[in-house]
Amino acid sequence: MATLDSKLSSVLGDKTAKALDSTFGYRTVGDLLHHYPRRYLVRGELSDIAALQEGDEVTILAEVFSASTRRFAAKKGNMLEVVVTDGTSKLSLTFFNQAWRERDLKVGKQGLFAGKVGVFNGKRQLAHPDYELIPDGDDVDAAVQGFAGKYLPMYPASGKLPSWKIAQCIELCIGALDEVPDPIPAEILEKHGYPTLQQALVQIHQPADLEIAEQSRLRLTFDEAFLLQLLLMSRKAKMRSLDAIARPKRDGGILSAFDQQLPFELTAGQKRIAQEIEEDLSQSHPMHRLLQGEVGSGKTVIALRAMLAVVDSGGQAALLAPTEVLAAQHLRSITKMMGALAQGGMIDSPENATRVTLLTGSQSAAERKEALALAASGEAGIVIGTHALLSATVEFADLGLIVVDEQHRFGVEQRDALKGKAKIPPHLLVMTATPIPRTVAMTVFGDLDVSTLRELPLGRAPITTHVVNTLEKPAFLERAWERIREEVAQGHQAYVVASRISAGESEDADIDFLNGVTSPDIVSVEVLAPELAMGALKGVRVAPLHGRLPSELKDATMTAYAAHEIDVLVSTTVIEVGVDVPNATVMVIMDADRFGVSQLHQLRGRIGRGTSPGLCLLITQAIAETPARVRLEAVASSTDGFELSRIDLEQRREGDVLGANQSGAHSHLRLLRVLRDEDLIDQARTDALEVLEGDPTLIQHPQLAIELAKVESEASSEFIDKG
Ligand code: ADP
Ligand code: MG
Repeated sequence: MATLDSKLSSVLGDKTAKALDSTFGYRTVGDLLHHYPRRYLVRGELSDIAALQEGDEVTILAEVFSASTRRFAAKKGNMLEVVVTDGTSKLSLTFFNQAWRERDLKVGKQGLFAGKVGVFNGKRQLAHPDYELIPDGDDVDAAVQGFAGKYLPMYPASGKLPSWKIAQCIELCIGALDEVPDPIPAEILEKHGYPTLQQALVQIHQPADLEIAEQSRLRLTFDEAFLLQLLLMSRKAKMRSLDAIARPKRDGGILSAFDQQLPFELTAGQKRIAQEIEEDLSQSHPMHRLLQGEVGSGKTVIALRAMLAVVDSGGQAALLAPTEVLAAQHLRSITKMMGALAQGGMIDSPENATRVTLLTGSQSAAERKEALALAASGEAGIVIGTHALLSATVEFADLGLIVVDEQHRFGVEQRDALKGKAKIPPHLLVMTATPIPRTVAMTVFGDLDVSTLRELPLGRAPITTHVVNTLEKPAFLERAWERIREEVAQGHQAYVVASRISAGESEDADIDFLNGVTSPDIVSVEVLAPELAMGALKGVRVAPLHGRLPSELKDATMTAYAAHEIDVLVSTTVIEVGVDVPNATVMVIMDADRFGVSQLHQLRGRIGRGTSPGLCLLITQAIAETPARVRLEAVASSTDGFELSRIDLEQRREGDVLGANQSGAHSHLRLLRVLRDEDLIDQARTDALEVLEGDPTLIQHPQLAIELAKVESEASSEFIDKG
């Protein structure tokens, strides 16, 4: 008898076990039993042959209609042509020099036929298909060799291991399977009416009816969600148990002084989150909070207040930004917001003032030396930087808070490297400007507390977005440049965004994936900037900006743009995140179909930051109704980042949502879909919480503890590790 941990070779023999290992990476009976059918064919319900498209890889259930072998006159050899039918349409199967197959493929027999649909002499056919005949009433014994039941499971398969071969292997494993212990507590199963693990594993492969198959699938999906939530919560509990220095709010310090000079009032949402963070920081275990917010909702000021609270308690804060442009921008806007409070050490500086310093990879040796000294001595209460902050030479006197801006661009190792610079575990605030649906947050960032900022500050002007198709209306591109000229004439500024730096080369490889199309002539910054400067935008101050420029030039360009010494920035997506120039009112995005939905939303968030309304033009050649066009229309019709990110996520594969690791063979997440399974995830979270509350160490749930340990070791690589 076998358990889920038994080697496949012990049940299936070495050869088959090897094939399963090399094709799917499966080694144990459990691995294979968690290879679930994608769907079921029903014995006797034949596939619709008329619906087959040329070029499709198909597996169909059909009945043999006729079979005949023809000898070739000239050449040696023969051809067997078998015609199969669904009762209405026909499809021909051809086999060369395999006349012996005629013995199996008897008229009236049903079978599964797999291959690529081709067309020959105007007829659709499968050349040399794989097939498996379905045992009928006459040969019940043969049923052991494959599909015994009414529902024929169709598996993700490969040429070497077609679906029915997998079905046979699974059948052998199920036959050999001993009683399977169930890790999920019986009360939970009972509460939801779920089958036992054993029942679910058998019934998902060999369902008595489709309802049972669905129940089994639900139960197995729940297992994934439940274990994931359990993992995230136990991590959270572990972090809770760490010691950190409490940084409670202090009256009369730099934070109060900052609040007093703030030129605007915080929005209700900002106040609420500021309060949450204040409470976190006053605890003696580390804060682990994700702050997600709509573009332009004012996350920076919240982060800055948290940093100042830490400075008040004698500590330092580090702000980690994904790009030099963004780091420099943060330095500018933070020193500006702080005013004299950032002038610590000066003769006439206020009593509570601190210093803000910048650390990036492209600084001169002297600048770097100074920044390092300020960080190490503790003189700089706030250190802003890129990944250069992580280097071994960077030391802090007392690092109390790490703020990570635009979280998704940093890996765990990097965050850990920074955490390692604190003597005592620091507080952590992660900010992301890509709002994500609640259950995705719960799943991807499940071990963080989440604060969500939805509203924009009052007085924000609305952004209007239009899709401009230059194939349908070529003159409209000229009109777009005219709009820029008009805005510039009124003293405003504009962005023109291109997807490429130079002709013939793309800055973002994701783009082609999203579209499945490549336009022949993609606009690039290096071509477009001079073209506009000498043509449509002649007389307007135009400057290019992209990731390959030397960083002094990048920085100088951004500074000049912020100071309104430049009117129009022609840029790649380096301006995507965080750049804040309220005077910019127009954005023209070239080849807009080359960007994802959230990315476009991010980009356009760069305008409409002041009091004048913003206009965003999405230039495209994508024709109506194509996915690319539909995506653009969605961006044009909504400014709700949460809704848009949902659309964005729906278009991505699950692996992209949860992290690359999720597609792996050993991933325990096979059925769970974070968007589709929201209710289930909710439920699983509640249940996991209940279990952990009653039994924090899982001592009363040994089987669950074992499963959790498995998932833990599997997940120790990146994905869930967003904390
Ligand atoms: P994001 O959340 O996209 O990072 P920022 O933090 O860059 O947004 O804020 C965008 C702009 O809004 C900044 O210029 C900031 O000073 C301003 N701002 C933030 N909060 C408020 C508020 N409560 N009232 C008015 N303006 C605000
Ligand atoms: Mg920001």
